Amino acid sequence: MSRISVDEARTLWHEGSDEELKRLAQEVRARYHEPNHATYMVMRIINYTNVCVAQCDYCAFYVLPNQEGGYVLSRGCRSTTTATYSRPSVTATASGSSSTR
Ligand code: SF4
Repeated sequence: MSRISVDEARTLWHEGSDEELKRLAQEVRARYHEPNHATYMVMRIINYTNVCVAQCDYCAFYVLPNQEGGYVLSRGCRSTTTATYSRPSVTATASGSSSTR
């Protein structure tokens, strides 16, 4: 169990196939975690306002200040929204069973 050298990393970067990189990544992951267990976190990004002045070209979300349709959630609403979306983390196994913590 050792780190790869800079030369090995360079070779992998330039010449490694996706399959080889996936296999190597899986090997390293298995050093630290049970191979048949995967975990993930439920994450929410709560948009407490849609008012923005950046005007990014690709954005269909924002409204300018004082433009119709703008909103800012109240502190109480933000707390409720955060609590509503809070969920325990879930652990899933390769067999499909899961548990919460
Ligand atoms: S993506 Fe939309 S909301 Fe985000 S900074 Fe750009 S304009 Fe504002």
